[in-house]
Amino acid sequence: MIHFRKPIEGIERPQMEADVVIIGGGPAGMACALRLAQLIDAHNAGVDEPLSKENIYVLEKSREVGQHCLSGALLDPRAMRELLPGFEKEAPLDAEVTKESVWYLTSKGQHKFPVVPPPLRDHGNYVISLSKFVKWMGQKVEETGITIFTGFAGSELLFEGDGSDVESARVTGVLTDDKGLDKDGQPKGNFEPGYELRSKITILAEGTRGNCAKQLITRLGLEDPEHAQTYGVGIKELWEIPAGRVAKGEVMYTLGYPLTTREYGGAWVYGISDTLVSVGYVTGLDYQDPRTDPHHVFQSFKEHRFARRILEGGKMVRYGAKSLPYGGWLTMPRIYGNGWMMLGDSASFLNSQRLKGIHLAIKSGMLAAEAAFDAMVSGDRSSDALSEYKAAVDRSWIRQELWPVRNFHQGFEHGLLEGVVSAGVQQLMRGGILGPDAKNQAGYTRMHQVDATGPVDLNREQMTGNARGDGKLTFDRLTDVFHSGTRHDEDQPTHLVIEDLNICAGRCTREYGNPCQYFCPAAVYEMVEAQGGSASQGRELKINFTNCVHCKTCDIMDPYQIITWVPPEGGGGPNYDGM
Ligand code: SF4
Repeated sequence: MIHFRKPIEGIERPQMEADVVIIGGGPAGMACALRLAQLIDAHNAGVDEPLSKENIYVLEKSREVGQHCLSGALLDPRAMRELLPGFEKEAPLDAEVTKESVWYLTSKGQHKFPVVPPPLRDHGNYVISLSKFVKWMGQKVEETGITIFTGFAGSELLFEGDGSDVESARVTGVLTDDKGLDKDGQPKGNFEPGYELRSKITILAEGTRGNCAKQLITRLGLEDPEHAQTYGVGIKELWEIPAGRVAKGEVMYTLGYPLTTREYGGAWVYGISDTLVSVGYVTGLDYQDPRTDPHHVFQSFKEHRFARRILEGGKMVRYGAKSLPYGGWLTMPRIYGNGWMMLGDSASFLNSQRLKGIHLAIKSGMLAAEAAFDAMVSGDRSSDALSEYKAAVDRSWIRQELWPVRNFHQGFEHGLLEGVVSAGVQQLMRGGILGPDAKNQAGYTRMHQVDATGPVDLNREQMTGNARGDGKLTFDRLTDVFHSGTRHDEDQPTHLVIEDLNICAGRCTREYGNPCQYFCPAAVYEMVEAQGGSASQGRELKINFTNCVHCKTCDIMDPYQIITWVPPEGGGGPNYDGM
Protein backbone atom coordinates (compact mmCIF):
# COMPACT_ATOMS: atom_id res chain seq x y z
CA MET A 1 0.00 0.00 0.00
CA ILE A 2 1.22 3.55 -0.63
CA HIS A 3 0.31 6.72 1.17
CA PHE A 4 0.45 10.07 -0.48
CA ARG A 5 0.25 13.55 0.87
CA LYS A 6 -3.23 14.42 -0.30
CA PRO A 7 -3.54 17.64 -2.28
CA ILE A 8 -5.71 20.09 -0.35
CA GLU A 9 -9.34 19.99 -1.41
CA GLY A 10 -11.90 22.64 -2.20
CA ILE A 11 -9.68 24.98 -4.15
CA GLU A 12 -9.85 26.05 -7.78
CA ARG A 13 -6.94 24.67 -9.74
CA PRO A 14 -5.89 26.25 -13.00
CA GLN A 15 -6.19 23.82 -15.88
CA MET A 16 -3.89 23.59 -18.89
CA GLU A 17 -4.29 21.47 -21.97
CA ALA A 18 -1.27 19.65 -23.33
CA ASP A 19 -0.51 17.30 -26.20
CA VAL A 20 2.39 15.66 -24.38
CA VAL A 21 3.68 16.11 -20.82
CA ILE A 22 7.03 14.60 -19.88
CA ILE A 23 7.39 14.28 -16.11
CA GLY A 24 11.11 14.53 -15.31
CA GLY A 25 13.87 16.46 -17.03
CA GLY A 26 16.72 13.95 -16.73
CA PRO A 27 18.51 12.31 -19.68
CA ALA A 28 15.49 10.14 -20.63
CA GLY A 29 12.99 13.01 -20.52
CA MET A 30 15.24 15.44 -22.36
CA ALA A 31 16.04 12.87 -25.08
CA CYS A 32 12.32 12.21 -25.47
CA ALA A 33 11.57 15.92 -25.89
CA LEU A 34 14.43 16.42 -28.37
CA ARG A 35 13.50 13.44 -30.52
CA LEU A 36 9.84 14.47 -30.55
CA ALA A 37 10.81 17.98 -31.70
CA GLN A 38 12.99 16.51 -34.47
CA LEU A 39 10.14 14.34 -35.74
CA ILE A 40 7.64 17.21 -35.65
CA ASP A 41 10.04 19.52 -37.51
CA ALA A 42 10.66 16.89 -40.20
CA HIS A 43 6.91 16.25 -40.50
CA ASN A 44 6.04 19.95 -40.73
CA ALA A 45 8.47 20.51 -43.59
CA GLY A 46 6.22 18.56 -45.96
CA VAL A 47 2.59 19.21 -44.88
CA ASP A 48 0.02 22.00 -45.02
CA GLU A 49 -1.26 21.42 -41.48
CA PRO A 50 1.78 21.44 -39.22
CA LEU A 51 1.86 19.87 -35.77
CA SER A 52 2.49 22.30 -32.93
CA LYS A 53 5.18 21.98 -30.28
CA GLU A 54 3.53 24.68 -28.18
CA ASN A 55 1.61 22.24 -26.02
CA ILE A 56 4.48 19.89 -25.25
CA TYR A 57 5.91 20.40 -21.77
CA VAL A 58 8.72 18.97 -19.67
CA LEU A 59 8.19 19.20 -15.89
CA GLU A 60 11.37 19.34 -13.83
CA LYS A 61 11.23 19.50 -10.04
CA SER A 62 14.59 21.23 -9.53
CA ARG A 63 15.06 25.01 -9.62
CA GLU A 64 17.29 24.73 -12.69
CA VAL A 65 17.69 21.94 -15.22
CA GLY A 66 20.26 19.35 -14.12
CA GLN A 67 20.39 20.32 -10.45
CA HIS A 68 18.88 17.03 -9.26
CA CYS A 69 20.84 14.83 -11.70
CA LEU A 70 23.52 12.64 -10.15
CA SER A 71 25.52 9.71 -11.43
CA GLY A 72 29.16 8.53 -11.44
CA ALA A 73 29.15 9.24 -14.41
CA LEU A 74 30.34 7.42 -17.53
CA LEU A 75 28.52 7.96 -20.82
CA ASP A 76 28.38 5.29 -23.52
CA PRO A 77 27.89 7.63 -26.52
CA ARG A 78 25.87 5.20 -28.66
CA ALA A 79 22.42 6.71 -28.12
CA MET A 80 23.64 10.32 -28.23
CA ARG A 81 25.28 9.68 -31.62
CA GLU A 82 21.87 8.59 -32.92
CA LEU A 83 20.04 11.51 -31.32
CA LEU A 84 22.48 14.30 -32.18
CA PRO A 85 25.19 13.08 -34.58
CA GLY A 86 28.47 14.89 -33.83
CA PHE A 87 27.30 15.79 -30.30
CA GLU A 88 30.89 15.36 -29.05
CA LYS A 89 31.86 18.67 -30.63
CA GLU A 90 29.68 20.74 -28.33
CA ALA A 91 28.54 18.62 -25.37
CA PRO A 92 30.25 19.06 -21.99
CA LEU A 93 32.41 15.90 -21.89
CA ASP A 94 35.15 15.92 -19.24
CA ALA A 95 37.42 13.16 -20.55
CA GLU A 96 37.53 10.17 -22.86
CA VAL A 97 38.31 6.95 -21.00
CA THR A 98 41.92 5.94 -21.60
CA LYS A 99 42.66 3.40 -18.89
CA GLU A 100 40.66 0.95 -16.75
CA SER A 101 41.41 -1.39 -13.87
CA VAL A 102 39.38 -3.62 -11.57
CA TRP A 103 40.40 -4.49 -8.01
CA TYR A 104 39.32 -6.80 -5.21
CA LEU A 105 39.85 -5.30 -1.75
CA THR A 106 40.23 -7.13 1.54
CA SER A 107 40.57 -5.28 4.85
CA LYS A 108 44.34 -5.06 4.45
CA GLY A 109 44.99 -6.03 0.84
CA GLN A 110 44.27 -4.98 -2.73
CA HIS A 111 44.38 -7.34 -5.69
CA LYS A 112 44.28 -6.13 -9.26
CA PHE A 113 42.42 -8.30 -11.78
CA PRO A 114 44.94 -9.51 -14.37
CA VAL A 115 42.53 -8.53 -17.14
CA VAL A 116 39.59 -6.15 -17.13
CA PRO A 117 36.35 -8.15 -17.63
CA PRO A 118 34.84 -7.19 -21.02
CA PRO A 119 31.69 -5.52 -19.56
CA LEU A 120 33.89 -3.09 -17.65
CA ARG A 121 36.06 -2.05 -20.59
CA ASP A 122 35.24 1.58 -21.08
CA HIS A 123 37.48 2.74 -23.90
CA GLY A 124 35.37 5.01 -26.10
CA ASN A 125 33.13 6.10 -23.24
CA TYR A 126 33.28 9.54 -21.64
CA VAL A 127 33.62 10.72 -18.05
CA ILE A 128 30.91 13.36 -17.62
CA SER A 129 29.12 15.39 -15.03
CA LEU A 130 25.53 14.23 -15.54
CA SER A 131 24.27 17.49 -14.12
CA LYS A 132 26.23 19.55 -16.67
CA PHE A 133 25.32 17.18 -19.48
CA VAL A 134 21.58 17.35 -18.78
CA LYS A 135 21.75 21.12 -18.46
CA TRP A 136 23.21 21.18 -21.97
CA MET A 137 20.47 18.82 -23.20
CA GLY A 138 17.91 21.17 -21.66
CA GLN A 139 19.31 24.08 -23.68
CA LYS A 140 18.92 21.97 -26.82
CA VAL A 141 15.30 21.22 -25.90
CA GLU A 142 14.51 24.88 -25.33
CA GLU A 143 16.05 25.78 -28.71
CA THR A 144 13.40 23.54 -30.33
CA GLY A 145 10.56 25.59 -28.82
CA ILE A 146 9.48 22.99 -26.25
CA THR A 147 8.83 24.51 -22.82
CA ILE A 148 10.56 23.19 -19.70
CA PHE A 149 8.83 24.15 -16.46
CA THR A 150 11.49 24.09 -13.75
CA GLY A 151 10.47 24.04 -10.09
CA PHE A 152 7.37 21.99 -10.96
CA ALA A 153 7.02 18.43 -9.75
CA GLY A 154 4.45 15.92 -10.91
CA SER A 155 2.48 15.36 -7.74
CA GLU A 156 -0.36 13.04 -8.70
CA LEU A 157 -1.42 11.38 -11.95
CA LEU A 158 -4.88 12.18 -13.29
CA PHE A 159 -7.04 9.30 -14.50
CA GLU A 160 -10.23 9.09 -16.50
CA GLY A 161 -12.74 7.11 -14.45
CA ASP A 162 -11.83 4.58 -11.79
CA GLY A 163 -9.98 2.05 -13.91
CA SER A 164 -7.61 0.04 -11.77
CA ASP A 165 -6.18 -2.34 -14.34
CA VAL A 166 -3.94 -1.58 -17.24
CA GLU A 167 -6.55 -2.27 -19.91
CA SER A 168 -9.31 -0.06 -18.48
CA ALA A 169 -7.31 2.78 -16.88
CA ARG A 170 -6.50 5.87 -18.90
CA VAL A 171 -4.00 8.47 -17.69
CA THR A 172 -5.20 11.96 -18.60
CA GLY A 173 -2.42 14.13 -17.22
CA VAL A 174 -0.84 15.17 -13.98
CA LEU A 175 -1.41 17.50 -11.07
CA THR A 176 1.62 19.65 -10.26
CA ASP A 177 2.63 20.41 -6.70
CA ASP A 178 0.91 23.08 -4.59
CA LYS A 179 3.30 25.84 -3.52
CA GLY A 180 3.11 27.98 -0.40
CA LEU A 181 1.70 25.51 2.15
CA ASP A 182 2.85 25.74 5.76
CA LYS A 183 4.13 22.79 7.78
CA ASP A 184 0.56 21.83 8.72
CA GLY A 185 -0.50 21.82 5.06
CA GLN A 186 -2.41 25.12 5.29
CA PRO A 187 -2.10 27.83 2.58
CA LYS A 188 0.27 30.70 3.38
CA GLY A 189 0.16 34.23 1.88
CA ASN A 190 2.17 33.12 -1.15
CA PHE A 191 0.00 30.07 -1.85
CA GLU A 192 -0.18 28.94 -5.48
CA PRO A 193 -2.30 25.90 -6.26
CA GLY A 194 -0.85 23.26 -8.55
CA TYR A 195 -1.94 23.01 -12.17
CA GLU A 196 -4.15 20.32 -13.59
CA LEU A 197 -2.19 19.56 -16.71
CA ARG A 198 -4.66 17.69 -18.89
CA SER A 199 -2.51 15.84 -21.36
CA LYS A 200 -3.27 13.55 -24.29
CA ILE A 201 -0.05 11.63 -23.61
CA THR A 202 1.78 11.52 -20.26
CA ILE A 203 5.37 10.27 -20.22
CA LEU A 204 6.95 9.25 -16.93
CA ALA A 205 10.70 9.90 -16.83
CA GLU A 206 11.24 10.63 -13.15
CA GLY A 207 14.33 8.47 -12.57
CA THR A 208 14.63 5.72 -9.97
CA ARG A 209 11.51 5.03 -7.91
CA GLY A 210 9.58 7.90 -9.47
CA ASN A 211 6.75 9.24 -7.39
CA CYS A 212 4.16 9.14 -10.21
CA ALA A 213 5.61 5.90 -11.56
CA LYS A 214 5.12 4.31 -8.13
CA GLN A 215 1.47 5.44 -8.12
CA LEU A 216 0.95 3.91 -11.54
CA ILE A 217 2.81 0.67 -10.83
CA THR A 218 0.86 0.17 -7.59
CA ARG A 219 -2.58 1.12 -8.92
CA LEU A 220 -2.35 -0.94 -12.10
CA GLY A 221 -0.24 -3.80 -10.69
CA LEU A 222 2.47 -3.30 -13.30
CA GLU A 223 5.26 -5.10 -11.44
CA ASP A 224 5.55 -8.89 -11.40
CA PRO A 225 6.06 -9.83 -7.69
CA GLU A 226 8.23 -12.77 -8.76
CA HIS A 227 10.53 -10.29 -10.51
CA ALA A 228 10.43 -7.40 -8.07
CA GLN A 229 12.73 -4.47 -8.78
CA THR A 230 15.97 -4.41 -6.77
CA TYR A 231 18.08 -1.35 -6.11
CA GLY A 232 21.40 -0.01 -4.94
CA VAL A 233 22.31 3.37 -3.49
CA GLY A 234 25.39 5.20 -4.71
CA ILE A 235 27.14 7.66 -2.38
CA LYS A 236 29.43 10.06 -4.24
CA GLU A 237 31.96 12.76 -3.48
CA LEU A 238 33.99 14.97 -5.78
CA TRP A 239 37.60 15.46 -4.67
CA GLU A 240 40.34 17.86 -5.66
CA ILE A 241 43.59 15.90 -5.41
CA PRO A 242 47.28 16.52 -6.09
CA ALA A 243 48.21 15.89 -9.75
CA GLY A 244 49.82 12.58 -10.69
CA ARG A 245 47.60 10.21 -8.68
CA VAL A 246 44.78 9.52 -11.16
CA ALA A 247 45.05 10.31 -14.86
CA LYS A 248 42.37 12.27 -16.69
CA GLY A 249 40.08 9.62 -18.21
CA GLU A 250 41.27 6.83 -15.86
CA VAL A 251 38.58 4.51 -14.48
CA MET A 252 38.92 2.17 -11.48
CA TYR A 253 36.35 -0.24 -10.06
CA THR A 254 36.61 -2.18 -6.81
CA LEU A 255 34.74 -5.10 -5.27
CA GLY A 256 34.90 -6.21 -1.67
CA TYR A 257 35.95 -4.20 1.38
CA PRO A 258 34.25 -2.86 3.38
CA LEU A 259 31.31 -4.99 2.22
CA THR A 260 31.64 -8.71 2.83
CA THR A 261 30.77 -11.56 0.48
CA ARG A 262 27.19 -11.42 1.82
CA GLU A 263 26.48 -7.98 0.35
CA TYR A 264 26.43 -6.65 -3.20
CA GLY A 265 28.30 -3.50 -4.12
CA GLY A 266 31.56 -1.83 -4.98
CA ALA A 267 33.34 1.44 -5.61
CA TRP A 268 34.33 3.61 -8.55
CA VAL A 269 37.02 6.23 -9.12
CA TYR A 270 36.80 8.30 -12.32
CA GLY A 271 39.51 10.80 -13.34
CA ILE A 272 37.69 13.97 -14.45
CA SER A 273 40.93 15.91 -14.82
CA ASP A 274 44.47 15.48 -13.50
CA THR A 275 43.36 17.06 -10.22
CA LEU A 276 39.64 16.23 -9.89
CA VAL A 277 38.11 12.78 -9.27
CA SER A 278 34.63 11.38 -8.85
CA VAL A 279 34.71 8.72 -6.13
CA GLY A 280 31.81 6.72 -4.81
CA TYR A 281 30.47 3.44 -3.49
CA VAL A 282 27.26 1.62 -4.41
CA THR A 283 25.68 -0.59 -1.73
CA GLY A 284 23.02 -3.05 -2.90
CA LEU A 285 19.72 -2.37 -1.12
CA ASP A 286 19.19 -6.04 -0.39
CA TYR A 287 21.53 -6.42 2.58
CA GLN A 288 20.56 -8.46 5.64
CA ASP A 289 21.96 -6.52 8.59
CA PRO A 290 19.54 -3.66 9.45
CA ARG A 291 22.42 -1.66 10.93
CA THR A 292 24.12 -1.41 7.54
CA ASP A 293 24.89 2.20 6.74
CA PRO A 294 25.76 2.88 3.06
CA HIS A 295 27.25 6.26 3.98
CA HIS A 296 29.52 4.58 6.53
CA VAL A 297 30.43 1.91 3.96
CA PHE A 298 31.70 4.67 1.66
CA GLN A 299 33.60 6.45 4.45
CA SER A 300 35.31 3.17 5.39
CA PHE A 301 36.22 2.54 1.75
CA LYS A 302 38.06 5.88 1.75
CA GLU A 303 40.13 4.75 4.74
CA HIS A 304 41.40 1.71 2.85
CA ARG A 305 44.94 2.23 1.56
CA PHE A 306 43.66 1.87 -2.03
CA ALA A 307 41.54 5.03 -1.72
CA ARG A 308 43.72 6.77 0.86
CA ARG A 309 46.67 7.02 -1.52
CA ILE A 310 44.39 8.80 -4.02
CA LEU A 311 42.56 11.15 -1.67
CA GLU A 312 44.81 11.91 1.29
CA GLY A 313 45.94 15.54 1.27
CA GLY A 314 43.15 16.41 -1.17
CA LYS A 315 39.90 18.21 -0.50
CA MET A 316 36.31 16.97 -0.73
CA VAL A 317 34.29 19.57 -2.62
CA ARG A 318 30.85 18.07 -3.34
CA TYR A 319 28.57 15.28 -2.05
CA GLY A 320 25.46 13.47 -3.27
CA ALA A 321 23.52 10.21 -3.15
CA LYS A 322 21.12 8.49 -5.49
CA SER A 323 19.51 5.08 -5.83
CA LEU A 324 19.58 3.05 -9.04
CA PRO A 325 17.55 0.10 -10.31
CA TYR A 326 19.57 -3.13 -10.59
CA GLY A 327 16.98 -5.64 -11.73
CA GLY A 328 17.35 -5.15 -15.49
CA TRP A 329 15.19 -6.67 -18.19
CA LEU A 330 13.36 -9.22 -16.02
CA THR A 331 12.17 -6.58 -13.54
CA MET A 332 10.93 -4.13 -16.16
CA PRO A 333 7.31 -3.20 -15.36
CA ARG A 334 4.79 -2.74 -18.15
CA ILE A 335 6.02 0.44 -19.87
CA TYR A 336 2.95 1.64 -21.78
CA GLY A 337 -0.81 1.87 -21.42
CA ASN A 338 -3.75 4.11 -22.35
CA GLY A 339 -2.28 7.59 -22.61
CA TRP A 340 1.04 6.87 -20.89
CA MET A 341 4.59 5.54 -21.33
CA MET A 342 7.46 5.03 -18.87
CA LEU A 343 11.19 5.58 -19.54
CA GLY A 344 14.72 5.38 -18.19
CA ASP A 345 15.47 4.35 -14.61
CA SER A 346 11.75 4.47 -13.74
CA ALA A 347 11.30 1.59 -16.19
CA SER A 348 14.44 -0.42 -15.25
CA PHE A 349 16.58 0.56 -18.25
CA LEU A 350 19.96 0.01 -16.60
CA ASN A 351 22.67 -2.55 -17.31
CA SER A 352 23.95 -3.56 -13.87
CA GLN A 353 26.72 -5.71 -15.35
CA ARG A 354 28.21 -2.69 -17.14
CA LEU A 355 27.14 -0.26 -14.39
CA LYS A 356 25.63 1.99 -17.04
CA GLY A 357 22.17 3.31 -17.76
CA ILE A 358 22.41 6.81 -19.22
CA HIS A 359 22.63 5.56 -22.83
CA LEU A 360 19.67 3.23 -22.25
CA ALA A 361 17.64 6.04 -20.68
CA ILE A 362 18.34 8.24 -23.72
CA LYS A 363 17.45 5.51 -26.19
CA SER A 364 14.22 4.67 -24.34
CA GLY A 365 13.30 8.38 -24.48
CA MET A 366 13.89 8.44 -28.23
CA LEU A 367 11.76 5.36 -28.84
CA ALA A 368 8.92 6.69 -26.68
CA ALA A 369 9.08 9.96 -28.65
CA GLU A 370 8.62 8.04 -31.89
CA ALA A 371 5.51 6.30 -30.52
CA ALA A 372 4.20 9.63 -29.16
CA PHE A 373 4.74 11.28 -32.54
CA ASP A 374 2.79 8.54 -34.35
CA ALA A 375 0.00 8.96 -31.79
CA MET A 376 -0.08 12.73 -32.35
CA VAL A 377 -0.42 12.19 -36.09
CA SER A 378 -3.05 9.47 -35.88
CA GLY A 379 -4.90 10.80 -32.84
CA ASP A 380 -4.84 7.29 -31.35
CA ARG A 381 -3.35 7.35 -27.83
CA SER A 382 -4.69 3.97 -26.79
CA SER A 383 -2.66 1.24 -25.20
CA ASP A 384 -2.67 -0.56 -28.55
CA ALA A 385 -1.17 2.42 -30.34
CA LEU A 386 1.46 3.08 -27.66
CA SER A 387 2.42 -0.61 -27.54
CA GLU A 388 4.59 0.34 -30.51
CA TYR A 389 7.00 1.83 -27.94
CA LYS A 390 7.54 -1.59 -26.32
CA ALA A 391 7.74 -3.26 -29.73
CA ALA A 392 10.43 -0.75 -30.74
CA VAL A 393 12.36 -1.44 -27.51
CA ASP A 394 12.20 -5.16 -28.33
CA ARG A 395 13.59 -4.55 -31.82
CA SER A 396 16.30 -2.17 -30.66
CA TRP A 397 19.79 -2.59 -29.26
CA ILE A 398 18.31 -2.00 -25.78
CA ARG A 399 17.03 -5.58 -25.82
CA GLN A 400 20.19 -6.86 -27.48
CA GLU A 401 22.17 -5.37 -24.59
CA LEU A 402 19.87 -6.20 -21.66
CA TRP A 403 18.51 -9.64 -22.58
CA PRO A 404 21.88 -11.47 -22.38
CA VAL A 405 22.46 -10.06 -18.87
CA ARG A 406 18.91 -10.52 -17.62
CA ASN A 407 19.96 -12.88 -14.81
CA PHE A 408 23.11 -10.98 -13.82
CA HIS A 409 22.10 -9.15 -10.65
CA GLN A 410 19.69 -11.89 -9.60
CA GLY A 411 22.68 -14.27 -9.50
CA PHE A 412 24.15 -12.26 -6.60
CA GLU A 413 21.06 -12.64 -4.38
CA HIS A 414 22.84 -15.23 -2.25
CA GLY A 415 26.21 -13.52 -2.06
CA LEU A 416 29.31 -12.58 -4.01
CA LEU A 417 30.73 -16.05 -4.63
CA GLU A 418 27.45 -17.51 -5.93
CA GLY A 419 27.07 -14.41 -8.07
CA VAL A 420 30.49 -14.80 -9.67
CA VAL A 421 29.77 -18.48 -10.45
CA SER A 422 26.34 -17.59 -11.83
CA ALA A 423 27.85 -14.83 -14.01
CA GLY A 424 30.28 -17.41 -15.44
CA VAL A 425 27.43 -19.82 -16.26
CA GLN A 426 25.50 -16.99 -17.92
CA GLN A 427 28.53 -16.15 -20.02
CA LEU A 428 28.57 -19.72 -21.34
CA MET A 429 24.79 -19.87 -21.81
CA ARG A 430 24.34 -16.43 -23.41
CA GLY A 431 22.50 -14.98 -20.45
CA GLY A 432 20.64 -18.12 -19.44
CA ILE A 433 21.11 -20.09 -16.25
CA LEU A 434 20.59 -23.73 -15.33
CA GLY A 435 16.77 -23.85 -15.23
CA PRO A 436 14.26 -21.03 -15.79
CA ASP A 437 15.20 -17.36 -15.47
CA ALA A 438 15.88 -16.28 -11.90
CA LYS A 439 13.09 -14.87 -9.75
CA ASN A 440 13.85 -12.29 -7.14
CA GLN A 441 12.16 -10.66 -4.21
CA ALA A 442 12.20 -7.01 -3.20
CA GLY A 443 15.45 -6.15 -1.39
CA TYR A 444 13.83 -4.95 1.86
CA THR A 445 12.35 -8.43 2.44
CA ARG A 446 15.88 -9.79 2.88
CA MET A 447 16.56 -7.63 5.94
CA HIS A 448 16.93 -9.69 9.13
CA GLN A 449 15.46 -8.67 12.45
CA VAL A 450 17.98 -7.45 15.05
CA ASP A 451 17.78 -10.53 17.21
CA ALA A 452 18.88 -12.63 14.24
CA THR A 453 21.85 -10.48 13.27
CA GLY A 454 24.08 -10.89 16.32
CA PRO A 455 26.56 -8.36 17.68
CA VAL A 456 28.51 -6.03 15.43
CA ASP A 457 31.80 -7.85 14.96
CA LEU A 458 35.06 -6.46 13.65
CA ASN A 459 34.08 -7.28 10.08
CA ARG A 460 30.93 -5.24 10.31
CA GLU A 461 32.20 -2.32 12.35
CA GLN A 462 33.19 -0.59 9.11
CA MET A 463 29.74 -0.71 7.57
CA THR A 464 27.24 -0.30 10.40
CA GLY A 465 26.18 2.60 12.61
CA ASN A 466 26.86 6.18 11.66
CA ALA A 467 30.35 7.33 10.67
CA ARG A 468 31.78 10.17 12.74
CA GLY A 469 34.46 11.20 10.25
CA ASP A 470 37.82 12.90 10.84
CA GLY A 471 36.87 15.99 8.83
CA LYS A 472 39.72 15.44 6.39
CA LEU A 473 39.40 12.09 4.66
CA THR A 474 36.07 10.98 6.14
CA PHE A 475 32.98 12.94 7.09
CA ASP A 476 29.82 12.62 9.11
CA ARG A 477 26.56 12.86 7.24
CA LEU A 478 25.73 16.44 8.13
CA THR A 479 29.09 17.64 6.81
CA ASP A 480 28.48 15.74 3.62
CA VAL A 481 24.91 17.08 3.27
CA PHE A 482 26.32 20.61 3.57
CA HIS A 483 28.39 19.82 0.45
CA SER A 484 25.30 18.71 -1.49
CA GLY A 485 23.88 22.25 -1.62
CA THR A 486 20.55 20.94 -0.32
CA ARG A 487 17.89 23.54 0.43
CA HIS A 488 14.22 23.17 1.38
CA ASP A 489 11.89 25.77 2.87
CA GLU A 490 11.36 24.59 6.48
CA ASP A 491 7.76 25.83 6.65
CA GLN A 492 6.17 23.26 4.35
CA PRO A 493 4.67 19.81 4.94
CA THR A 494 7.26 17.04 5.23
CA HIS A 495 7.72 15.24 1.93
CA LEU A 496 8.45 11.93 3.70
CA VAL A 497 4.96 10.58 4.28
CA ILE A 498 4.85 7.90 6.99
CA GLU A 499 1.70 5.87 7.31
CA ASP A 500 1.95 5.12 11.02
CA LEU A 501 4.58 6.67 13.29
CA ASN A 502 3.62 4.23 16.06
CA ILE A 503 5.19 1.44 14.00
CA CYS A 504 8.45 3.40 14.03
CA ALA A 505 8.44 3.91 17.81
CA GLY A 506 7.20 0.41 18.63
CA ARG A 507 7.51 -2.55 16.30
CA CYS A 508 10.34 -1.20 14.20
CA THR A 509 12.45 -0.32 17.25
CA ARG A 510 12.01 -3.84 18.61
CA GLU A 511 12.28 -5.77 15.36
CA TYR A 512 14.75 -3.83 13.20
CA GLY A 513 16.29 -1.20 15.47
CA ASN A 514 14.99 1.64 13.25
CA PRO A 515 17.19 1.07 10.18
CA CYS A 516 16.12 4.42 8.67
CA GLN A 517 18.68 5.98 11.04
CA TYR A 518 21.38 4.11 9.13
CA PHE A 519 20.26 3.73 5.52
CA CYS A 520 19.43 7.42 4.98
CA PRO A 521 22.65 9.09 3.76
CA ALA A 522 21.47 12.54 4.81
CA ALA A 523 20.64 12.16 8.54
CA VAL A 524 16.95 12.79 7.92
CA TYR A 525 15.71 10.16 10.38
CA GLU A 526 16.54 10.39 14.09
CA MET A 527 15.09 8.55 17.08
CA VAL A 528 14.73 11.10 19.89
CA GLU A 529 13.16 11.28 23.35
CA ALA A 530 9.37 11.35 22.88
CA GLN A 531 7.67 14.69 23.45
CA GLY A 532 4.78 14.29 25.89
CA GLY A 533 5.46 10.59 26.44
CA SER A 534 2.92 9.43 23.85
CA ALA A 535 5.18 7.00 22.02
CA SER A 536 6.03 3.60 23.38
CA GLN A 537 9.63 2.96 24.49
CA GLY A 538 9.93 6.69 25.33
CA ARG A 539 11.38 7.46 21.89
CA GLU A 540 9.90 8.72 18.66
CA LEU A 541 10.97 9.39 15.12
CA LYS A 542 12.08 12.90 14.21
CA ILE A 543 12.16 13.68 10.48
CA ASN A 544 14.71 16.32 9.47
CA PHE A 545 13.26 16.52 5.98
CA THR A 546 15.19 19.65 5.00
CA ASN A 547 18.35 17.50 4.79
CA CYS A 548 16.86 15.15 2.18
CA VAL A 549 19.01 14.67 -0.94
CA HIS A 550 16.19 12.87 -2.80
CA CYS A 551 17.96 9.51 -3.10
CA LYS A 552 14.70 7.51 -2.42
CA THR A 553 16.52 4.90 -0.29
CA CYS A 554 13.96 5.18 2.52
CA ASP A 555 11.04 4.58 0.15
CA ILE A 556 12.83 1.47 -1.16
CA MET A 557 14.44 -0.06 1.96
CA ASP A 558 11.96 0.58 4.78
CA PRO A 559 11.07 -2.95 5.99
CA TYR A 560 7.38 -2.15 6.53
CA GLN A 561 7.00 -0.13 3.31
CA ILE A 562 5.28 2.66 5.21
CA ILE A 563 7.50 5.50 3.95
CA THR A 564 6.49 7.25 0.74
CA TRP A 565 8.77 9.90 -0.73
CA VAL A 566 6.73 12.64 -2.43
CA PRO A 567 8.16 15.72 -4.13
CA PRO A 568 8.68 18.65 -1.77
CA GLU A 569 7.55 22.11 -2.79
CA GLY A 570 8.87 22.71 -6.31
CA GLY A 571 12.51 23.63 -6.51
CA GLY A 572 13.58 22.22 -3.13
CA GLY A 573 16.32 19.61 -2.89
CA PRO A 574 20.01 19.20 -3.60
CA ASN A 575 22.04 21.29 -5.98
CA TYR A 576 24.22 18.87 -7.94
CA ASP A 577 25.72 21.50 -10.25
CA GLY A 578 28.94 20.01 -11.63
CA MET A 579 28.29 16.56 -10.09
FE1 SF4 B 1 17.21 9.60 0.73
FE2 SF4 B 1 14.92 9.20 2.06
FE3 SF4 B 1 17.07 10.17 3.33
FE4 SF4 B 1 15.74 11.68 1.56
S1 SF4 B 1 14.96 10.91 3.50
S2 SF4 B 1 17.96 11.44 1.71
S3 SF4 B 1 15.11 10.14 0.05
S4 SF4 B 1 16.84 8.13 2.42
